[in-house]
Order: sequence, then C-alpha cells, then structure tokens
Amino acid sequence: MNETHDPGLKSWVESANTETCDFPIQNLPYGVFSRADAPAPRVGVAIGDQVLDLAAAEAAGLLPGGGGLFSNPAINTLMARGAALWAEMRLALSRMLRQGARPRPELLTPMTDATLHLPFEVTEYTDFYASREHATNVGSMFRDPANALMENWLHMPVGYNGRASTVVVSGTDIQRPCGQIKPPHTDQPTYAASAKLDIELEMGAVVGTPSEMGAPLSVAEADAMIFGYVLLNDWSARDVQVWEYQPLGPFQAKAFATTISPWVVTQEALAPFRTPGPVQDPQPLPYLRQQGPHNFDINLTVTMQPAGTTQPSTICRTSFKHMYWSSAQQLAHHAGSGCAMRTGDLLGSGTISGAAKGSLGSLLELTWNGRDPLQLADGSERTFIEDGDRLTLSGHCQGDGYRIGFGQAAGTVLPAAAV
Ligand code: CA
Repeated sequence: MNETHDPGLKSWVESANTETCDFPIQNLPYGVFSRADAPAPRVGVAIGDQVLDLAAAEAAGLLPGGGGLFSNPAINTLMARGAALWAEMRLALSRMLRQGARPRPELLTPMTDATLHLPFEVTEYTDFYASREHATNVGSMFRDPANALMENWLHMPVGYNGRASTVVVSGTDIQRPCGQIKPPHTDQPTYAASAKLDIELEMGAVVGTPSEMGAPLSVAEADAMIFGYVLLNDWSARDVQVWEYQPLGPFQAKAFATTISPWVVTQEALAPFRTPGPVQDPQPLPYLRQQGPHNFDINLTVTMQPAGTTQPSTICRTSFKHMYWSSAQQLAHHAGSGCAMRTGDLLGSGTISGAAKGSLGSLLELTWNGRDPLQLADGSERTFIEDGDRLTLSGHCQGDGYRIGFGQAAGTVLPAAAV
C-alpha cells in the first residue's frame, strides 16, 4: 500500500468526502461515459458524484502513459499496458484530485449528466462456482443432501465458458428468455418463456494483462494480472437449466444476459480489504496453492423492486470474503491447461452465498426452489422474478471513515419475446 490508500485523504471534489460516498479519493474506479454534448464514449474516473474526463486530462498533458489510453470507448488499452502503469496512473490521479492540488472543474461531468457504458470490451467470459455454501445448497436441492458437493469440488474451482456477447452494463433492460423446458410431470419438452427467472449475485474479476497459450500461471502470477473487479449478476433461467445442464453444464439458461456494474474498482484500491479465505481442506494441488490473503471483504446487497412501486426490498446481504476459491486461484486454474487469457477476460466468481438465511445470493436458494416465497415491502410475494421487477446488486468495502464502493449492477426484466 502507499499514499493513495491513506484513509485521511480528501478531495477538492467535496462530494467525495462523505463517509457513505462510494467513490472517495481512495477508490478511483475506471469507467466509460458520454454526455449529450459530447456523445463519443471515453474513459473517466468516478470521484464523488462526478466523472473526471480522462481523455481530456490526457489531452491536456496531465497524465502519465504517453497518450492514447483514454479516448477509446473501453479501458482495455490501459489494462493491457500492465501493473506498473496502473500504479503510476492511480498515483497521478490521487495527486491531481486531492485537497491542495489545483482544482480542475473543467474536467468534471456530474454523474447525473453522464451516460455510462460497458467499461471494457469483454473479450471472454467464464463463470465459476466457488461458494461452498451455494454449491452445497444447489447440490442438496437437486441431488443428495448427504453428498451435496461433487467429488471434484474441493479440488478445483469448477467453471464453464460463458458468453461475452451478452454481457451488458447496469441499467440495460433484460428480456425474459425463452428456452426448452420440461416440467417433471410431463413427457415432452416445450419451447417457452422461462417461468423461473433468477439472479446470481457474483463479483467479476477483470483480467488486465494477457497470458500466452501454453503458459500455465502460478496463483501469484494470476493475481498480478487481475486489473480489478465489478459487480456481476449472472441472470439464470432455472427451468431451462435443470433440463439442459447434464452432462455438459449450463448453456442457454445463462447465455441470454449478464449484467455488470459500470465502474471497475482496481485491485490496488482493494488492497486494504484483502483477507484470508476459508481454510482449504484438502490442501489444493501445488499449482493452486496461494500465499497470503487473496479474498476481499466486500459487503454485498441485493434488492428487488416490483414495477410501479417506490420501495426496493432488500432480499440478500452477504460478503465476498467467504468464497472458497479466490479469483486468483480461478485464473490460475483456467490457465492450467495452457488456455490463453486475454485483456478483458471476465471471470464470474460464482454465486456468493453465506451460511445464514438472508445471505443467499440467488432466489433459487432464498425461496428453496419456490417452496418458501419471499415477502416484499409492498406486500407482494415472490418465488422467482416477475416481469417489471428491477433487481439491483450493490457492494462496498468499509474502511475507517470511508468506503470503497462499486456502485450498482441493476436491470429491469421485460416480458419475453412472442414464441
Ligand atoms: Ca453463475
């Protein structure tokens, strides 16, 4: 850690200095924004309730890196340049934005005037299954409570290759998917709108620097390649999933949409919130062993808000810190075969569920596959998502007098296309 992590730092952007602000000067997350009078998307950094225009700052000669990093509609160029420049940029931004530096209001756009876009080009998307509590719950529901975890689960981060083409930024409406469904009491499947549409509360690790095909990574090497993290909602159609998933795993049940938050919080900003994960027993194979803390203490919340209501209901509160497999271990496992990793590779952590009721990261678990409906603030009940419902993930790390926030990953569900 360095001077950019000092809890006492304040910014000349006054809105960044409140204890509950997601984007204080200790955070400095990157995103892509545009505005009505400047419609070309470019890179910015969130500070308080403002966006600092990094393309303009770069053009004014205020930033390191030699130019050409921020006028693109994605942060991939910065990410590909590597950790030394990431750290240099963070230090420059911290010094530019802190109290005592020359205020530069001409570089600011109020968040309320900014349209936020996908922050990076998602080159690949892989989804894991790394919460022991989640895997145990799902295994208990669909297989056998006595043998809920598959034999491989404690030996490797289980995952599948997902779709980058349908990763969307927070605020994008989600059309209810159609798929092949075969209810248990019927003989034949049908093609229909999913009646069991669900969320999965996850974090997404964003790969910054690439790796070569044929070159496995140690956990330490993998950790150093991770640029940052976003909130991630892996929307899931449970009725499609339960019929299609054997023997090759999820396919269309999760291919239709994945929502991420618009700001990539850097791994460097999260350094004060590193924490050890659970003890891994049996000890992982040597290529998956990790030294030091690789989990992050991120408080996470999910709300659900039906159409026409004003009050969201909190349906889940949990923490990222309990995940059994760290993102660095997931990345090391991913490259373990010689699979090349790319700048902009997105690694979903897997659904984040805690041990307590109310800390479960999917409606599948919260309602136990529809058996126990949730009561919402407006008096209605839910088993799975209904059309018009808005689901919002939010998260932050709690520091001493400040927080490192992720903002939100939100989406409203629209009716299915006509079948
Ligand atoms: Ca998932």
